[in-house]
Amino acid sequence: MSNQSLSFIHDSLPQKIRFGFGEASANLLEEVRTRNAQSVMVIAGEPEMPIAKQVASEIEVAVWHSDVVMHVPIETAQAAREVAVDNQVDLLVCVGGGSTTGLAKAVALETGIPIVAVPTTYAGSEATNVWGLTEEKRKTTGVDIKVLPETVIYDSKLTLSLPVEMSVASGLNGMAHCVDSLWAPKADPINAALAGEGIRALSAGLPKIVEDSQSIEGRDEALYGAYLSAVSFASAGSGLHHKICHVLGGTFNLPHAQTHATILPYVLAFNAPYAPGAEQRMAAAFGTQTGLEGLQQLREKVNAPARLSDYGFSADGIPEAVSIVLEKVPANNPREVTEENFTQLLTAALNGDDPAILSN
Ligand code: NAD
Repeated sequence: MSNQSLSFIHDSLPQKIRFGFGEASANLLEEVRTRNAQSVMVIAGEPEMPIAKQVASEIEVAVWHSDVVMHVPIETAQAAREVAVDNQVDLLVCVGGGSTTGLAKAVALETGIPIVAVPTTYAGSEATNVWGLTEEKRKTTGVDIKVLPETVIYDSKLTLSLPVEMSVASGLNGMAHCVDSLWAPKADPINAALAGEGIRALSAGLPKIVEDSQSIEGRDEALYGAYLSAVSFASAGSGLHHKICHVLGGTFNLPHAQTHATILPYVLAFNAPYAPGAEQRMAAAFGTQTGLEGLQQLREKVNAPARLSDYGFSADGIPEAVSIVLEKVPANNPREVTEENFTQLLTAALNGDDPAILSN
């Protein structure tokens, strides 16, 4: 019998969650009333604006802002901050995916204005206190409680229009939060429990969405899983997977969700043999022998993104990516990351090779 004791420090983030199919506008009205907000700024990218108009149909909106760009370029952030200050905004409402939430966070970071987030993808940014900004091709991230949305309104009706391909990529982005949080710097039993349930919910929900994009059950499960994934990630911090994806997104401008979806099996195959606790948790959540087997079965069912070359990455980018990532590898990563084995990982992900080759 093992006689090891448990010892860890876990931070829980203060946030209200309102979850309900078709309930977003009523929930937003309730938030605006309780806060007595006088000047609301709604942030939504142009494509999400119709959803935002519907969500905000019951409240008075002082300013609509639609200049949203993925990975939050600093100029876009500055422009949005000026709009907020000029309009004496006292509540930010963001309706959209991680790019939209990211812009609201950039405004909150400088102004301290509270956010109510209404997510329409599975990126999970709404449940973290992590902000990201991109300046001169480098993405910087940081942690600040000011950027944590005070309330999140989840309504899976708003996700019915998310195209199946994007739903799959985004859902696997959520899955990556779960998996990476099992070996991230502040991995602990609480976020491992959340991650396990997140893996289960996402792997149950995504195939239902692929079968029928209007499946309410599938959409609800995926959104619930995405929330759990983000809570576990916020608590555990960025592991190897996130360090890699931030470099690929920031320096090579690769699309966020698709990059996460593509890289995940390679990082899982690379780390899992060196992380038995994580391996056990993933296998149990997928209901398979190993985490890799579960993830690959799911990826096949949902026709997941398979190679980085499909998203604009090429072999001549590998040396630069390797050198930047090697500086950022978390000290507690279960497996030593070297120039040689990491080049092998990126090359395999570039070409869509079998991830199992990394498990030795
Ligand atoms: P995104 O917000 O750019 O959305 C992806 C695409 O889906 C866009 O074309 C968008 O218009 C469209 N879309 C969104 N919702 C839709 C809907 N309901 N119906 C139809 N189309 C819809 O991408 P994302 O993957 O959600 O977010 C990526 C960004 O979020 C990246 O910048 C990433 O760094 C950031 N992020 C941050 C954190 C964090 O904790 N700070 C966590 C995850 C992601």
